Amino acid sequence: MVSEEDLQNMSPEEIAELQRKQCIFCKIIKGEIPSKKVFEDDKIIAILDINPAAKGHTLIMTKEHYPILPVIPLDVAAHMFRTTKYLVKSLKEAMVTNSATVFIANGAIAGQQSPHFLYHLIPREPDDGLDKFMIPANEFKEEEVKQHLSALKGKLGLMMREYKAKKGKEGEVKQAKPISQQDLAKFIDANPQVREAIINHPEEFKKQLEANPELKHMFVGINIDKLSMALKQIKK
Ligand SMILES: [Zn+2]
Repeated sequence: MVSEEDLQNMSPEEIAELQRKQCIFCKIIKGEIPSKKVFEDDKIIAILDINPAAKGHTLIMTKEHYPILPVIPLDVAAHMFRTTKYLVKSLKEAMVTNSATVFIANGAIAGQQSPHFLYHLIPREPDDGLDKFMIPANEFKEEEVKQHLSALKGKLGLMMREYKAKKGKEGEVKQAKPISQQDLAKFIDANPQVREAIINHPEEFKKQLEANPELKHMFVGINIDKLSMALKQIKK
């Protein structure tokens, strides 16, 4: 056991190492404690919660020990959310439900109970007896709301700009190899809704590209207007 006095004499690194050693989730990840694994890859693991709130209640966590969200490296955090997206998508096949509550508590005050940052994925069914997690409205005066906004916009906005400037490189979407025209043609063939969007709503489609880096990457260097006309011709 580590005494209060030992803790006082420890460096932050040593305390982090100790937390890691005592972390029950790290022990589960290492296989020292048995668990029911739903999914696993090199960065992420998803296991059934031992105290499930609903059928299929799953915990999604990084294999590396990170105590809170802000310290998770960007690529790992992105991968974690991407995995969550696919798990939610797969629920439709596995449990015939499209609905899921994804619950994230960051920090003790927010209700984070585990020392290892994680998401809860709770598949939802009609009348499952669980809360809809409706967030109750608190009463604030207009003046107070203005103060909150200026604090967030000022400090948070400034911090985000500084952070992005510092971490610029890390924040960029990693560029994969550009895909070939052939593969792009196959992709369009396989996705009729994309084809229709390009043909009928090229302007809307360009906006979609801006909002979706993966899609944008596929269409890099492609003139959407020309593509739209070409596809229209083929359609005829
Ligand atoms: Zn851990």
